[in-house]
Amino acid sequence: MAASARVIITLECAVCRERNYSTTKNKRANAEKLKLSKYCGRCRKHTEHKETK
Ligand SMILES: [Zn+2]
Repeated sequence: MAASARVIITLECAVCRERNYSTTKNKRANAEKLKLSKYCGRCRKHTEHKETK
């Protein structure tokens, strides 16, 4: 198998900065940072979650 471009990333709530989710992504297919609307248990609502470094 070729070297994988799949990396583990952490998603952080843009509002309270809680790190709620971790996922993987294909760096080659998604070079820019991920942004997803996810439920934050701390904000108790859906907020924007961004990929952290
Ligand atoms: Zn939050």
